[in-house]
Amino acid sequence: MKFERSITAFARAREVIPGGVNSSVRAFKAVGGTPVFMQRGSGATIVDVDGHEFVDYVLSWGPLVLGHAHPAVVRAISNAAARGSSFGAPTEAETELAELICAMVPSIERVRFTSSGTEATMNAVRLARGYTRRDKIVKFAGCYHGAADAFLIAAGSSALSLGVPNSPGVTQSAARDTIALPYNDAAAVRAAFESHPDEIAAVIVEPYVGNMGLVMPQPGYLQALREICTQYKAVLIFDEVMTGFRVARGGVQEREGVLPDLTTLGKVIGGGLPVGAFGGRAEIMDYLTPDGPVFHAGTLSGNPLAMAAGIATLRTIHGDATMYDRLEVLAKLLTNGLHEIMQKHGVSHYSSYAGSMFGTFFCEGPVVDLESAMKSDTGLYAKYFHAMLERGVYFAPSQFEAGFVSTAHSTRDVERTIEAADASFSDIMARSGA
Ligand SMILES: *Cc1c(COP(=O)(O)O)cnc(C)c1O
Repeated sequence: MKFERSITAFARAREVIPGGVNSSVRAFKAVGGTPVFMQRGSGATIVDVDGHEFVDYVLSWGPLVLGHAHPAVVRAISNAAARGSSFGAPTEAETELAELICAMVPSIERVRFTSSGTEATMNAVRLARGYTRRDKIVKFAGCYHGAADAFLIAAGSSALSLGVPNSPGVTQSAARDTIALPYNDAAAVRAAFESHPDEIAAVIVEPYVGNMGLVMPQPGYLQALREICTQYKAVLIFDEVMTGFRVARGGVQEREGVLPDLTTLGKVIGGGLPVGAFGGRAEIMDYLTPDGPVFHAGTLSGNPLAMAAGIATLRTIHGDATMYDRLEVLAKLLTNGLHEIMQKHGVSHYSSYAGSMFGTFFCEGPVVDLESAMKSDTGLYAKYFHAMLERGVYFAPSQFEAGFVSTAHSTRDVERTIEAADASFSDIMARSGA
């Protein structure tokens, strides 16, 4: 494959956009080479500026659970655009999307919209601090909660693959109020609360971590976080920006039966448009201005186009009782198929899947936290990524990201992907002389 137009487009972009991209992970730093510039997408397929087609397992990093350009979503956005794109006054669409979210996510009684997941987590933490009148938060190494200062301590996703876990520009005082602990270690959380019993406002966690690759909680871990937060009167925040409407209608909290006090959402609830949301118990949410003292605002929060795309997406989900079962069957088929191919080629790996999410680490495993995730062979991942790209499969350009399937992906897409992996590993092994 020749990526001539992508190479030209990237050179042009770099003249005016730092690194040529508007979100760091897109730059392919973790896998090498030039980012592929996209032109259009439909269903499970994307087409780049050179005309190559790919089966897409990135899906805009999660939002597109119905695939690209789903007809109901396209119709909803164009109808909304024709009626006016923003008013800065309330619309009924906001209430409708809020009702859909409250109906489907078990712990959410009230919800506020933002324009990104980053804003959702920032506001959830401010609310937790205002509500508890405490300053510190606990987060877990390798979890990613967006690009706000408080979270750029041992952060996952692109902060991880770029090797800047503690970004310059994050002040000492911001860092001092964030306690970073290993994921899947309830004893470490208990110890932190014992040392700071009246200081920790919130524990924020990706209940299934999708931003260091896919890492699942061990049995009892989320329950333990719930018990510790209840005991110390701290706010438990599930960051379900990625997992919400991805692993089940009601997210991880529904699958695991553990209810947080606050939940952050984003990605799927915007149907591909910029959206975030934070919600939870009415008693806490009513602490927000104008009824309460904790400030929140946004010029484009609850934007009509974003609400329309979100409503079309969530209505489709709401009306499809077997959707997440079908998605998980597909994710399982892909994960097991890739597992067999890697075994055949003698590649050490550790895989998992949940709902429409999947992930493979190139190491023995088990991968339970950041330390074990970092044992993965990122050089092999880079080779695998490029070999699959050449064969028309678009995976995330970093080892430390989850993959996604959508309702538009077919068994045939998955079979083609497994065949491509077989050919890719044959090629990689032959080149490495193994
Ligand atoms: C993507 C993501 C965010 C940030 O959302 P943005 O819309 O990119 O700001 C926060 N938390 C998690 C778990 C995410 O996956």
